[in-house]
This record gives sequence, structure tokens and C-alpha cells, in this order.
Amino acid sequence: MEKVLIVDDSRLQAAQLKSILDDEYDITIAQTAEDGLSYASSGGYSLILLDVVMPGMDGFTLLKKLQEEIITQSVPVILITSLSDIQNEQKGLMLGAVDYITKPFHPLIVEARVNTHIKLYQYRKQVEYQSMTDQLTKIANRRQHDYHSVLKWKEASRLRVPFSICMFDIDHFKAYNDTFGHPAGDKVIAGVAKLISSNLKRSTDFVARYGGEEFVAFLVGDSAEKAFEHLKKIRKAVEDLHMPHDPDTAQWVTISIGGVTVVPPKDSSYDAYLKIADTMLYDAKRTGRNKVVWANEKMEQWRE
Ligand code: GH3
Ligand code: MG
Ligand code: MG
Repeated sequence: MEKVLIVDDSRLQAAQLKSILDDEYDITIAQTAEDGLSYASSGGYSLILLDVVMPGMDGFTLLKKLQEEIITQSVPVILITSLSDIQNEQKGLMLGAVDYITKPFHPLIVEARVNTHIKLYQYRKQVEYQSMTDQLTKIANRRQHDYHSVLKWKEASRLRVPFSICMFDIDHFKAYNDTFGHPAGDKVIAGVAKLISSNLKRSTDFVARYGGEEFVAFLVGDSAEKAFEHLKKIRKAVEDLHMPHDPDTAQWVTISIGGVTVVPPKDSSYDAYLKIADTMLYDAKRTGRNKVVWANEKMEQWRE
């Protein structure tokens, strides 16, 4: 059930709105704009019905705040008010409200408008999700990686926490495809993605399909030693799946991993360090594959 937040200082009006929408939606009521902001910021709402005239912070001010916060800025807001003059309606729409309902309202109209905006919101979320997700593996795609990496790199730089970038590449994958065919290869890619992501489950972990049989992940907060140890486990877990490879090439499907851990220096670029991870990956390939090669802050290199 989609969640709808009603922000209205009038208990009567909030209860009226709730009774109109209660059957179809999970309703929360906030009686002040301050409470509304704190509910909305906790996330999960698909629509906000917002009264304009309230004591303390008014609806326009709350609307402005909602538009500024990353969690709330895409949630549609419908203003509900007795201010029926054109200037106020225009102001609300300019501030980013998707619709404007004037009092007294008819229940059927409220219901119809809410339904429409929730459908549009769901559609938008779905398009957004699809454009950021890899179809085969259902993990983040390259586009999401590019967007997310820069944000998280900057955040780690500001907070002075270690950031690890890892690149994964399936070994001898061309031979696998040549022997078993492309659809079987696709299954292996999906299986490896599942295993990597099931081992990177913290809220700060991130993993994306970067290209054909390549993945990129980052970990936040771990020392180089810890990251190296963890990635060794993931490398081994793939080997332990015992997915048979082309017998002339290798016994099992394996992966090589290259990584680097640093506290991102001020004004440094993520891409420069991604290149270092790639160099470590190249080294893992060059020295026999199915291994992890890591660089620490001092650019000392560790090889499994
Ligand atoms: P290495 O151990 O050096 O990584 O050797 P490799 O054969 O894996 O390396 P290379 O980069 O030459 O080949 C990658 C192969 O991955 C080529 C391509 O056939 C296969 N590949 C890329 N994308 C996909 C995909 O979406 N599905 C399948 N089945 N195969 C893919
Ligand atoms: Mg490759
Ligand atoms: Mg490969």
C-alpha cells in the first residue's frame, strides 16, 4: 500500500482527508509543518497533501524545504487550502507543488487527483529504476555507478574516511562463451553478480556491472587490510561455486580483482583511483588470474 502524508493543523480536515483515502492508502497525519518535515524526511511517502495556512511554519515554507532535501524533493505535493486567489495558486505551483485543491473540496475530486499523482509518481520511479539498473543482473548499471561514485567519493573525502574501489573481471570468459554459448555465459555473469552483491550488504557498500563481464564495487570505512581480506573471501567464494569452465582453459569459473584503498585526498578525482584499481586488476591477470591485487594509501602493492 502506498504511503500518503497529510500535513494539516486542523484535526477535522485531516480526518476528513484520511477517511477519503483510507481504503486505498496508508495514511500518516502530521499536525504541524515541523512534524510533517520530519515524517517526510524519514522517506517512503508517495504523496504529500499539504495545508497552506498553519500556525508556525506555513505550507509554502515546508514545500520549499521539501524541495531542497534529496529524500523528499521528488515526492509529489498537493496543496490544499482555502486561499483561492490566483496569486497563491501560482506561488504554490512555482514552488514545485504538482497540484492545488481549494476548500471546500469534493471527496471524489480529492481521490481522483491523488490517484493520478500517485500513478505518475510510480511510473517515474519505475523509469528511474530501469535507467539505473542492469537488466541481466538486476544490480546497478554503469550509469548509476558514474552518478553514485562521484557523490560517495566526495562524501568520503569530506568525512576523511577510507574508500576502497574494486574492479572485478571474470577470467577467460571469451573461452567460456566459445564453449558453452552466450546464454550460458549470461547466466554466469548473473551468478557472479549475485555472489558479489550478497557479500557486499552494508548500506554503504555499492556494486555495479561496469561492462560485459566486469564489475566495480566500493566499500566505505574499511582499512586497506580489511578490504583486501574481504575481497579475497569473495574471490574464493566464486571459485567455490565450482561452475565448470571449458576444460582446456580452467577447471572452474574464477574472477580476478584489483583494488585500492585511500582516504580520498582533497580535490582528487575518483576516476584517477579507478584507474589504479584497473592497473591492480591487470596485474592480477598478468600474474596468473583468480587472485586479488590491492594497493594501499602509500601505493604499496599486495598480491594474494
Ligand atoms: P581475461 O581472463 O583476460 O579477462 O580473459 P577474457 O576472455 O575474459 O577477456 P576478454 O575481455 O578478452 O573477453 C571478455 C569476454 O566477455 C568477451 C565477450 O564475449 C564476453 N562478454 C562480454 N559481455 C558479455 C555478456 O553480456 N554476455 C556474455 N555471455 N558474454 C559477454
Ligand atoms: Mg573484461
Ligand atoms: Mg575477463
